[in-house]
Amino acid sequence: DLGRVQQLDEYRWTVPLAPGETRAPVLLYGSAPLLASMDDKVLEQAVNVAKLPGLVKASMTMPDAHWGYGFPIGGVAAFDPAAGGIVSAGGVGFDISCGVRCLRSDLSLTDIAPHLELLANALFHAIPAGVGEEGRLKLAPAQIDEVLADGAHWALRHGYGVPEDLDYVEENGRMAGAVPANVSELAKKRQRGEMGTLGSGNHYLEVQVVDRIHDAETAAAFGLREGQILVSIHCGSRGLGHQIGTEYLVTLAKAASRLGIALPDRELACAPIRSPEGQQYLGAMNAGINVALANRQILAHLTREVFARVLPGSRLETLFDVSHNTCKPERHRVDGRDALLYVHRKGATRAFGPGHPSLPERYRAVGQPVIIGGSMGTGSYVLAGTAESEQEAFSSASHGAGRAMSRHQALKQWRGRELIDELAGRGILIRTASLRGAAEEAPGAYKDVDLVAEATERAGLARRVAFLRPKVCVKG
Ligand code: 5GP
Ligand code: MN
Ligand code: MN
Repeated sequence: DLGRVQQLDEYRWTVPLAPGETRAPVLLYGSAPLLASMDDKVLEQAVNVAKLPGLVKASMTMPDAHWGYGFPIGGVAAFDPAAGGIVSAGGVGFDISCGVRCLRSDLSLTDIAPHLELLANALFHAIPAGVGEEGRLKLAPAQIDEVLADGAHWALRHGYGVPEDLDYVEENGRMAGAVPANVSELAKKRQRGEMGTLGSGNHYLEVQVVDRIHDAETAAAFGLREGQILVSIHCGSRGLGHQIGTEYLVTLAKAASRLGIALPDRELACAPIRSPEGQQYLGAMNAGINVALANRQILAHLTREVFARVLPGSRLETLFDVSHNTCKPERHRVDGRDALLYVHRKGATRAFGPGHPSLPERYRAVGQPVIIGGSMGTGSYVLAGTAESEQEAFSSASHGAGRAMSRHQALKQWRGRELIDELAGRGILIRTASLRGAAEEAPGAYKDVDLVAEATERAGLARRVAFLRPKVCVKG
């Protein structure tokens, strides 16, 4: 039911102003079937975000959007600090800097096919996954502060990965502006045993095969070819990020009330970027980003160790590492002028187009790799950032297929064991500590990733480069 939604063109929609309503516009990206299947709560949340101070252009949702805490997942919102713009913990998400590290191998499906069971078991054994699961690393209190400040550079210094990795990680592996002192002792304590762990639920480590190339030239620049094996690691900042989000929700709510910012929903707790609380949250969030960057760097290393044992002589290089839960200061052109904006991307991927100075040399001509996870049973996409996306959505694109139903609903429809057996019959090996988790993550609980990737391309947000099919999935 498209209800209040009004179509602007084939892939752009809006919610018209109600009588007497004052707010910024809402811009929803997606095809008619995607929009029709979107829950009402997404619209309500996108409208609420449009009422926050200092919002630039529009409150946006990507084609994979679904409702989240305060802000929609798949939401993009940029704020101008000079116009009273705000930062919000709900606009970043609790899993700060959740994202995907994609590794490309020099292997083909035929190389790994005879060893698939062994590979699945070895990965499941080596990659700590599941609720509260701890890793092999136990950090001392002082070391945690180093991780918060240095991100993937810390991991590299401690023997995880190779220097070239960092050329292909957002922010080159270290987010500037991290203030470890703004992160509570409790948050740090939670993280001391959780570095190098995947986490639970939707987090995964997946061995994938390049099934189809959409854009040969860009695929070549990304080092991708049909039949090639890739590994995608989806995880974030674990307990630390969650703790930062929980604590700053309170801090930001108090700031909003102190400064008289009217919140359409208390889940939108926020503070001006130029306020002590806003700055404090940004310092903590940047530290959270570094934890996620270090975490994925460690997990990439653990993955390489497994491949070295099971498939000796194979190589895994970092294709890219991209976050989808952040608020970042970036320069964008707005109404013909260059402005420093704080762009919230919650369940949305940064997607810089060709020529962006922050891109590594190798990708500069074709644009940033963008990764869309689909599900453990369908597939995923690698896309590339476009020039249009800068005009459209502050260089942002979708991050997944997006949930089509709640975990609760999924549990009623699927049984974990049956699902895993069914996938095994189709040549996809799932390894998980939680059958319940597997049911919640049933491929049918997600939207159609092909529709999302197609709409993302048609709306000009990013263009499809390759479609990946899952072979092994270690689930949290
Ligand atoms: P989120 O970051 O919002 O939790 O999840 C990102 C996206 O990952 C989801 O929208 C979903 O489409 C995708 N996803 C969830 N589980 C899996 C999985 O096991 N494998 C793959 N390839 N994608 C998944
Ligand atoms: Mn995520
Ligand atoms: Mn996450």
